[in-house]
Amino acid sequence: MGSIGCESEGRVLDAVIVGAGFAGLYMLHKARQTGLDALALEAGPDIGGVWFWNGYPGARCDVESMQYSYSFDEKLQQEWSWSEKFASRDEILRYVNHVADRFDLRRDVRLDTRVASAHFDDATGRWQVTTQAGERFECRYLLMASGCLSTARIPEIAGLESFAGEIHHTGNWPRDRKVDLAGKRVAVIGTGSSGIQVVAAIASEAAQLTVFQRTANFSVPARNQPMAPDYERSWKDNYAALRYEARHNTTAGTIYELSDRSAIEVSADERAAEFERRWEKGSPNFMRAFNDLGVNEQSNAYAADFVRDKIRTIVSKPEVAEKLAPKNHPIGSKRICVDTGYFETYNRDNVRLVDLKEEPIEAVTPTGICTARQEYLFDTIIFATGYDAITGALGAIDIRGCGGKSLKEEWKEGPAAYLGLVVSGFPNMFLITGPGSPSVLVNVIVAIEQHVEWIADCIAWMREHGYDRIDADPQAQLQWADHVDEVAHKTLFVRANSWYMGANIPGKPKRFMPYAAGIGPYTQKCLDIARQGYDGFIMSKHASSISADVA
Ligand code: FAD
Ligand code: NAP
Repeated sequence: MGSIGCESEGRVLDAVIVGAGFAGLYMLHKARQTGLDALALEAGPDIGGVWFWNGYPGARCDVESMQYSYSFDEKLQQEWSWSEKFASRDEILRYVNHVADRFDLRRDVRLDTRVASAHFDDATGRWQVTTQAGERFECRYLLMASGCLSTARIPEIAGLESFAGEIHHTGNWPRDRKVDLAGKRVAVIGTGSSGIQVVAAIASEAAQLTVFQRTANFSVPARNQPMAPDYERSWKDNYAALRYEARHNTTAGTIYELSDRSAIEVSADERAAEFERRWEKGSPNFMRAFNDLGVNEQSNAYAADFVRDKIRTIVSKPEVAEKLAPKNHPIGSKRICVDTGYFETYNRDNVRLVDLKEEPIEAVTPTGICTARQEYLFDTIIFATGYDAITGALGAIDIRGCGGKSLKEEWKEGPAAYLGLVVSGFPNMFLITGPGSPSVLVNVIVAIEQHVEWIADCIAWMREHGYDRIDADPQAQLQWADHVDEVAHKTLFVRANSWYMGANIPGKPKRFMPYAAGIGPYTQKCLDIARQGYDGFIMSKHASSISADVA
């Protein structure tokens, strides 16, 4: 298929991809291989997605580098070398850029181009895409690679605009200069994965660091280290098989040491020894110490107790340790954090913790932050307050499907998409890592590759069979949403006020959004559905295409 220039109506393409992070770039590559004329529109001034935006000190991956990388090209995965067990943000960004150059992707990525609206035209069966700058594109397929964690959120706090110092969000870190924290009084608000990374990284630079914690979080040590050559070799010698295994036969899309024992079936000594061994081994291993930590309350409580005790051992001031020890949610029900020296940071004289449960923030003033108890003075405030996750980027675009119905309206009680891939009434729009798919619960690169390849195969199949329109059967979508819900309620995930639940955004419907059964079972489900001729999807040939064929 080729594109037809049609300047007054905007450029006509087979596919518009929204976003140029890991998902958008791979989608572009696959779309080209499928013979589609595709263009990726990226809001940011460069490619890389979260790894471009999150330039904050300490930003690092918590999935091992050998696994947090593309698997689609054997030469690429053999030739690229990671320098550390867990890659830093800068190294991942170099990798993304290498991939873009290697596969000549940049020529079909339009930077500084934010998609503002996408409207499905019932008459033509095509999407009309408009950018914030007013540019227009028309396409058959709208491929949403806009990210699950790309809509950074600064909470509304009275007086914020009056602050005379610098304000930054971890997810939109300045790129044109180094943020100078030397000798500064710095506040960090938020103690999720980003907060704990940035706190540990800047404590020695700032004159004084104050951490505002609303919810104490569980964190386990990464135990990062330089990449061991024999470890790298062991992966590269078996890469194809290991990648297959990760996608098809694991729940988390990663290969780490699993356990086939329940935490309640072993003695207290055995349990403690196993937790200790895993704690020493490093983060990805800890929550796999037993096979039921995510589903059994008692087993989970043992793991949580172990980590709380560790915090009490590491943090020298007992009252600070007690505040840092999470007590209001099961371990792992909010995304578990992975750190390098986070709890140790509180033993420094220049670091203090403010517990917002005791003294909530009331306002930002020109000189600092006022809590219910006092004003704290700052030169810089860093928001590590997270994202409007999973649906935020989609909700920010005015997406309208058949009959002009709005996606935002459609999802006002909570998102639903068949297999997390297609929303009923929004034909030919595919979501990559959409709600109802494993997405953020697993190694996201594995989830992205699985989705991108499924979408490309689906479009190729449609073309082979003479279809150019795919929609989700509303009944199939409903059943899938019920299934997603049912699976979530078998886990402890639903017991936390997490961003997985939409609980961090005031007014957002509370529904567990990702699919918790794991990437292996999900991949199998997607393959089965495709093999059954895309059961639950409605394929058709658009009337205008039929008349064009006849003409
Ligand atoms: P993104 O990387 O978010 O890319 C989406 C792109 O779409 C962005 O560049 C954005 O600017 C663009 N976009 C959005 N809306 C529009 C619009 N309207 N118009 C045009 N462009 C738009 N996952 C893991 O598996 N392991 C990890 O260790 C891990 N660490 C993470 C660390 C951080 C700090 C964050 C924030 C996330 C992390 N994640 C991790 C999750 C991460 O989101 C995924 O791993 C992955 O990078 C997502 O890639 P993506 O391409 O789907 O989305
Ligand atoms: P997050 O997990 O949502 O954490 C946000 C933090 O800000 C929480 O502690 C939250 O408290 C707090 N907060 C939010 N609004 C607040 C307010 N109004 N006042 C005070 N505190 C407030 O966001 P994140 O840390 O950016 O992480 C998001 C996800 O990105 C992670 O879960 C992970 O998937 C990914 N990530 C991964 C890594 C990594 O190690 N690889 C690093 C960074 C991010 P509550 O808990 O009370 O809501």
